[in-house]
Amino acid sequence: MHHDPIRTGTASVWAGEEQLSSEGAIVPPVFNSVTFGFEAMDDWFDVALGKKPGHIYSRNTNPTVRPLEEKIRVLDGAQAATSFSTGMAAISNTLFGLLQAGDRVVSIQDTYGGSNKVFNEFLPRMQVEVCLCDTGDVDAIEREVARGCTVLYLETPTNPTLKIVDIERLARAAHAVGAIVVVDNTFNTPINQRPLALGADLVVYSATKYLNGHSDAMGGLLVGRKDLVDRVFHYREITGATLHAQPASMILRGMKTLELRMQRHNENGMAVATYLAAHAKVNQVFYPGLPGHPNHAIAKKQMSGFGGMLSFSLHGGFEQVVVLLEHLRLAHKAASLGSVGTLVGPPRTTSHVELSAQERADAGIPESLVRYSAGIENAVDLIADLEQALARV
Ligand SMILES: *Cc1c(COP(=O)(O)O)cnc(C)c1O
Repeated sequence: MHHDPIRTGTASVWAGEEQLSSEGAIVPPVFNSVTFGFEAMDDWFDVALGKKPGHIYSRNTNPTVRPLEEKIRVLDGAQAATSFSTGMAAISNTLFGLLQAGDRVVSIQDTYGGSNKVFNEFLPRMQVEVCLCDTGDVDAIEREVARGCTVLYLETPTNPTLKIVDIERLARAAHAVGAIVVVDNTFNTPINQRPLALGADLVVYSATKYLNGHSDAMGGLLVGRKDLVDRVFHYREITGATLHAQPASMILRGMKTLELRMQRHNENGMAVATYLAAHAKVNQVFYPGLPGHPNHAIAKKQMSGFGGMLSFSLHGGFEQVVVLLEHLRLAHKAASLGSVGTLVGPPRTTSHVELSAQERADAGIPESLVRYSAGIENAVDLIADLEQALARV
């Protein structure tokens, strides 16, 4: 029988959870069991050999974690999915699981701080050549890909200046040299961007951010081509960066409202960015939804929503940022992003604190930059809060 693929709002609620759990529970129970027992030895062997579905040991698979993997698989339209203890575990396990000495990986300079450390610190140590290109120079990225690589690793929009990278064009270039295309889709979730449909082979997520959405659980997810997901799963089941049942259950719950939350994040991101762009004390606003964004056309082509992440710089220096942040009331001054509550912070003292002032300038990060993760509050209240805080600057 033919089934139309279910829509994303419906999949957020139902995917992976269509069947009643044991005792008729309509919510997947939290199976805090390290191991799973068998009465019949034949069953045990069949499950261990993969001939029968089931679970053996929770470092490998767990019945609470499984529905979460299925939910993200359906939302991204992927062949397969697996999970990790954190987003960085998903990213590092994917890279370590796919790369070996002598391989070459091409990526961009503006990846997430932890990913950047893997590229600069850990991969070179295992004799993997890493080439990090100017994020804004798509021709240069294409040229480096054409020289040959095993993996092309992308992230878009980037942190903290929301640059947009053309996934479709670069995936084509990568496939021409037989490379695997990996995209970090944390800022978008499958509601706003579906990299597999744009040509990517694998998509990684920090589920800690929008997917869970409530800043109370950490996790990582990987979806994509089955042969590749299987290779990374094997690396993870042996090396052990496993997602536990409790956070998996919390992320499953968070994801039921994923589409609703993303719609509101998109609205609030746009409303706050538009407000700030017209404010006399604001120097620059970085948001892919603004028509003046240098890559607005590509953003429009590959994203179905522009998200809740934006950044802006003030006229003046870091002292002005301190005044603004200390007067904001409807925003936690904290690291992280993608939560129901607005989060705000200066890259100078958070994500990019380890760079020198000159390095930040070279990376195009103004000292007076503020990163703003718009939550799901009412936009009028967020704007009124910014208004009173900006008045003090
Ligand atoms: C937070 C984040 C990560 C890392 O996720 P953790 O769950 O903190 O390990 C990776 N990529 C992006 C884009 C992120 O925002």
